[in-house]
Amino acid sequence: MKRIPEPFRIKMVEPIKMTTFQDRQAALDEAGLNPFLLRSDDVYIDLLTDSGTGAMSDNQWAGLMLGDESYAGSRNYYNLCNAVEHFFGYKLTVPAHQGRGAEQILFPALIERMRQVRDGTTPVFISNYHFDTTAGHIEMNGGKAINVVDERAFDTNTPYNWKGNFDLQKLAATIEQYGSHNICAIITTITCNSSGGQPVSMANMRAVYEIASKHDIPVVIDSARYCENAYFIKQREKGYQDKSILEIIREMYQYGDMLTMSAKKDPMVNIGGLCCIRDHEELFQAVRTRCVPMEGFVTYGGMAGRDMEALARGLYEAADENFLHYRIGQVTYLGDRLREAGVPIQYPTGGHAVFVDAAKVLPHIPPEQFPAQVLANALYLEAGIRAVEIGSLLLGRDPETGEQKRADLELMRLTIPRRVYTNDHMDYIADAIIELQNRAHELKGLTFDYEPPVLRHFTARFNAL
Ligand SMILES: *Cc1c(COP(=O)(O)O)cnc(C)c1O
Repeated sequence: MKRIPEPFRIKMVEPIKMTTFQDRQAALDEAGLNPFLLRSDDVYIDLLTDSGTGAMSDNQWAGLMLGDESYAGSRNYYNLCNAVEHFFGYKLTVPAHQGRGAEQILFPALIERMRQVRDGTTPVFISNYHFDTTAGHIEMNGGKAINVVDERAFDTNTPYNWKGNFDLQKLAATIEQYGSHNICAIITTITCNSSGGQPVSMANMRAVYEIASKHDIPVVIDSARYCENAYFIKQREKGYQDKSILEIIREMYQYGDMLTMSAKKDPMVNIGGLCCIRDHEELFQAVRTRCVPMEGFVTYGGMAGRDMEALARGLYEAADENFLHYRIGQVTYLGDRLREAGVPIQYPTGGHAVFVDAAKVLPHIPPEQFPAQVLANALYLEAGIRAVEIGSLLLGRDPETGEQKRADLELMRLTIPRRVYTNDHMDYIADAIIELQNRAHELKGLTFDYEPPVLRHFTARFNAL
């Protein structure tokens, strides 16, 4: 197993505090056995998310000092536009405060455009997998979001290089079923967050774009982890070994017409987002029109000038091959250590996180007692590490019947922030989980003490059974 040394040295440190078992027990009880309700001060290693938690570089921090805070036409906006054009080849850029900000100005505009032509239809969106806020914006505007990810994504044990790929047959069948004129857009999510940070191959992106073009359907690339996806293509796809990350990114974006991006992921800013369009002026105008009341004036869209500068610089740093080699290597290393000790994980390991298959670790705890939440709580008590449940608790109930929906997988996600934790931290995390697995049979399920009506996982409270 290879540990790839960090391609940076440390100029500033942020102390983190190791607590005692008793401290953690008190903190978790106070939090109603829900790690979302912990204070971050009570967490030693925080693996809740890779969103907005990355460490900016000295170059990004220096960029903050060059913020042009003019209300309109900030020079940092133009720097950002230039970086976008350099990497993606898209001419038209609207900043947004984060990914969902970009979604709320683009998706209603796409839906409205379709309704102008065909009133009274339900606009359908097809994706390998819609991120939850993406599906949210589609559904809030009367649309329907359908996922057609390759079935192999749900078999954690069997390796497959492209567990983020569209099932092309299902894609074609879904277009056929709803009629191409009712398909508002196809959304290619790279990497596919919901299947475990799994990549989409270039061949698949190309094929999706060909199908879309044949039917005159626009393709949106949901771009939170596009650099990680590019690195996987370089590593795994025939014909790309000798291409640069820049060349791979440019080709990926030929297979799309526009993008939304949560810049809090790959580009390593703490807040920021983008909506970019290749060349469709009319759509650009519609998006800008929405931007003003929702996000802010069209050259800042909810971002400070300094934050746009940090983002423009982050786009370059995120695409650095040495950085990506270390980044993906660090996550893979954690996955390999767990696998070697027999801990079941989504395999191959994804780009931004290791997903532990909690249903397999805790076969005695049924889905409605939330095995992945049980495991996350035990990991916190054991070692002060905060992980997150991606399973039945997150999925929730069917709004019509009130029944718990059936999750394909019960996963505990260990999300690795960028440039934040060292390889020694990875060993500490692996050791704690391996230790935990040895006494997994002692762990008990959870029942609700308080269950909020919507988005329950954030604020629910539990009792141990
Ligand atoms: C995080 C994320 C979003 C939403 O972005 P925010 O910055 O959290 O609003 C959208 N799509 C994907 C794939 C994401 O990972």
